[in-house]
Amino acid sequence: MKIAEIYKSTQGEGLLTGTPSVFVRVSGCNLRCWFCDTPYASWQPEGIDYAVDEIVAEIEEWDCRHVVLTGGEPMLFAELLPLAQQLQDRDWHITVETAGTLYLPVACDLMSISPKFASSGPPADQHPHWSRRHERQRYQPEVLRSLIAEYDYQLKFVIDREPDLEEVEQFLAAFPDVQSDRVLLMPQGTTTEVLQQRAAWLVPACHERGWIYCPRRQIEWYGPVRGT
Ligand code: SF4
Repeated sequence: MKIAEIYKSTQGEGLLTGTPSVFVRVSGCNLRCWFCDTPYASWQPEGIDYAVDEIVAEIEEWDCRHVVLTGGEPMLFAELLPLAQQLQDRDWHITVETAGTLYLPVACDLMSISPKFASSGPPADQHPHWSRRHERQRYQPEVLRSLIAEYDYQLKFVIDREPDLEEVEQFLAAFPDVQSDRVLLMPQGTTTEVLQQRAAWLVPACHERGWIYCPRRQIEWYGPVRGT
């Protein structure tokens, strides 16, 4: 499995914000969001091939019990199954971060699903191939239904503009069993200034609808740097 980076940091997003965690970032993604904050695991995938045992050995070097399997898109890789199983057997708490377009029956304690909207695709004039592919693949309702039914989950939406709120409402209408305290809205942006501007309208919008506003604490704590 191609790995872009393995590092220990503090989870900055979602229900486990503040939890010390080891992050395993696989390299490769089936989508190409224009705002991707890990282009080295999607647009220009970097990294080296690791055997599952090597990944586990590196994770075990850290004094920590939470691991986040992220990307890119970790569900692209069948090796995720033995990797997660070995970690579960060693009593690690496992979060899988996925866009929810691909299914694997992976061992997982928190399925962190970040569905992508039409507005997240790359500009068609600059990336015609990826624009078509992104739009074709970004919404897979049967996969989402399985992930939501089978796992403890959070739905984490990246919000760029106010019209995105309408897309969240349309999305949730197709999944009536989703509890509002599992719906997290996170501002798009990689600087504290931009995040604060978006928070000004996104926080009240979340309160009105019973959703959770999800800051990106890692940007506040460390800035937009790799390995955090
Ligand atoms: S799904 Fe995630 S990793 Fe893939 S391109 Fe979009 S933001 Fe980047």
